[in-house]
Amino acid sequence: MAIFVYAENINGIYKKAAFEAVSYAKAIAEKNGETVTAVSVNPTDSSDLLYKYGADKVINIKDDGLKNFSAKAYAQAMNEVSDGNIIVFPHTTDASSVAPMLAIMKNFSLITNVLEIPESFAPFQVKRRAFSGKGMMHAKAEAAGVIVTVSQNAYGVKENVASGSEEVKDLAVANEDTKVISHEQSSGRLDLKEAEIVVSAGRGMKGPENWGMIEDLANTLGAATACSKPVSDIGWRPHSEHVGQTGKAISPNLYVAVGISGAIQHLAGVNSSKTIVVINNDPEAPFFKSADYGVVGDALKIIPELTEKIKALKG
Ligand SMILES: Cc1cc2nc3c(=O)[nH]c(=O)nc-3n(C[C@H](O)[C@H](O)[C@H](O)COP(=O)(O)OP(=O)(O)OC[C@H]3O[C@@H](n4cnc5c(N)ncnc54)[C@H](O)[C@@H]3O)c2cc1C
Repeated sequence: MAIFVYAENINGIYKKAAFEAVSYAKAIAEKNGETVTAVSVNPTDSSDLLYKYGADKVINIKDDGLKNFSAKAYAQAMNEVSDGNIIVFPHTTDASSVAPMLAIMKNFSLITNVLEIPESFAPFQVKRRAFSGKGMMHAKAEAAGVIVTVSQNAYGVKENVASGSEEVKDLAVANEDTKVISHEQSSGRLDLKEAEIVVSAGRGMKGPENWGMIEDLANTLGAATACSKPVSDIGWRPHSEHVGQTGKAISPNLYVAVGISGAIQHLAGVNSSKTIVVINNDPEAPFFKSADYGVVGDALKIIPELTEKIKALKG
């Protein structure tokens, strides 16, 4: 039997999270003697990219009606093509809205935010992130089939080349009661949830006039920018940048927190970052307890100097 994977793309280009989901599915398939079938909607990227991470088969759905993302229509498309009893999604924003709809359509169990390959298959049991990353949970699927969403950056992207084959499916998805007629994407900024590096700042920056240095550091590192909740509440930064319990939950490889106290509500959204660097002028700031590296000092002096040093290193 095949393990199916939702290989998400954006404007036809596969996301890194899709490669991670395929890598994860391959690891399961190798344990079970199964194969991996990756499904993508209107990709322009080559299927070779999915074979590279272990897809034995790629089903490319071509449908003009699916040009604009719609969770229900994409779930219907997945429902039509996937007939395995394990389906893997990345835990991206879009995939996280398709997966529950597909679970209802198939009457499968849904386990979100999984961190590792399953502990057992009968019953299907797996470790998942819980309570905004503050805890772990061992979840067991009760239904005949299971859909999992893989927490971003948790399993990792692992090359495991398969000699895959491609099937193109012209699929006209019916019964869509909400039609997405256009889709506009904000441009010029890295997607915060996808970014490998995030430079984030809080009220310690004193005012919006000082954000130029945060953007300069972020550009130098190839990072996205984020902020604490009060910063977006006061209007120094847009709400789309606010991370934490009530903002976006992120798990980049590197999170640089500048002038942020490290309140529990902020940590809830960032504490699954791989490496955390904290810059704060208060040595007692709570954030230092969660930091891998800490710098005590005035951010307004440290950030420009740090940026210059990194620029010099990069040549
Ligand atoms: C229900 C609820 C939900 C919430 N959700 C969120 C959330 O999702 N995200 C979130 O961020 N917050 C959230 N909060 C708010 C949270 O509790 C904190 O109030 C907030 O995170 C503090 O933001 P801050 O660290 O930027 O500001 P402050 O608490 O004012 O801290 C500023 C920090 O900057 C340091 N500093 C000052 N000057 C300098 C300098 N020159 N150089 C270096 N460091 C300096 C200070 O030492 C201090 O540690 C929530 C609160 C509630 C009640």
